[in-house]
Amino acid sequence: MSPPAFAFMGRRSMSDLNRGSKNGGAVIRGARCAQRAGESAWYSIQIDSGRVSRVGGKVSPSSISQAGCVDIDLTGYLVLPGLVNAHDHLQFALYPRLGDPPYGNYVEWGEDIHRKFAGVIAMHHGVPKDVRLWWGGIRNLLCGVTTVCHHDPLWRVLQREDFLVRVVQQYGWGHSLALGGDLLKARKLMPCETPFIMHACEGVDARAERELHELSRLGVLDASTVLVHGLALDKAGIDLLQSRRVSLIVCPSSNDFLFKQLPLMNILGGIENLALGNDSPLTAEGDLLDEIRFAIRRCDIHPDRAYAMVTEAPAAALRLREREGTIGEAGVGDLIAVRDTGRSPADTLESLSMHNVEFVMIGGCVQLASEAVWERLASEARDGLEPLWIDGIVRWLRAPVEELLSQAETALGVGQVRLGGRAVRSADSHLREA
Ligand SMILES: [Zn+2]
Repeated sequence: MSPPAFAFMGRRSMSDLNRGSKNGGAVIRGARCAQRAGESAWYSIQIDSGRVSRVGGKVSPSSISQAGCVDIDLTGYLVLPGLVNAHDHLQFALYPRLGDPPYGNYVEWGEDIHRKFAGVIAMHHGVPKDVRLWWGGIRNLLCGVTTVCHHDPLWRVLQREDFLVRVVQQYGWGHSLALGGDLLKARKLMPCETPFIMHACEGVDARAERELHELSRLGVLDASTVLVHGLALDKAGIDLLQSRRVSLIVCPSSNDFLFKQLPLMNILGGIENLALGNDSPLTAEGDLLDEIRFAIRRCDIHPDRAYAMVTEAPAAALRLREREGTIGEAGVGDLIAVRDTGRSPADTLESLSMHNVEFVMIGGCVQLASEAVWERLASEARDGLEPLWIDGIVRWLRAPVEELLSQAETALGVGQVRLGGRAVRSADSHLREA
């Protein structure tokens, strides 16, 4: 069956969305499911009220027939836990990469782009901020991210239950030593268990190198601290982070673009909670899946380690409490699915781009479906999904796609909208041809 013509779809506005499932109930069956980086097995996953209630074996027919429970046959697919993107600035999703590198540090970069690219920045600023934030959610959803840590104020739209991906809600933050104001005061305002996140050592010059020791003197390095980048860290700096049990998020493609240098994984590898982030498209490549491939190929990170860096490691660093990054009983029902090629979960992840992510479920509710998966969905699971054309493919998303596209095109021009560097446009003509 072909997807219905878009003209007949009930359009949604940004104010009337909901997560779609009435009770977050679903049964996933027929798929090979990841257990950890190198292990998988064929089993069913039952989700009730948004949480995984049962993993393994057969699912009883009575649970499938339960009111509101969606039965999804994913035979031929590999199911992975939803990915965690440990670092993003969601409001910049539609921007192009901006810079005239190489730079010595992030302050130089920031001043330079406001001098040289003021027109581009002003044009993108013409897209309303909430619309840009939704696009930030879409950029993450398309590549299988179900939880993202946004490094900026937690604007109201990001606190909504129906925002299309989970956004980490409990965190303290400062931009950085140079641009973050009174970091010690900000840190003290947060309960001590709350992660406190800062950019640090983002650069290759003496200023970037000095930052770690200045942060240490300030007294803001402890087991709740999460630093982002750490490019200028040396062995002594790493030892200091380890002794204070500080977590680190690396964003290699952003570092490569701005500074022509990569994090030194041979010395960073000993950090307990080492996570991977895909910084905003202002500096990073593509999306989190592009970042994973970049990290494996350019930074010599083993695929098993890369798998951990987008699942359990960021969940630990960011103190996520709902078993994010795993598929396990009592954990959140956040899953993604890609075609099963028989490879291990980690080796599969290494080979993926957003074109391969065909299914995303958050809290038991379908948030994304490819055209092939769409055909397998019951009508209640399709309800509320709108199609988007991106880079040659169509994805059905739980987002007010047409409204978001229209508002972006008003500021940027019809046919000129790019998301993480990829062209996006209405799926209308594609679906009419189908
Ligand atoms: Zn950043």
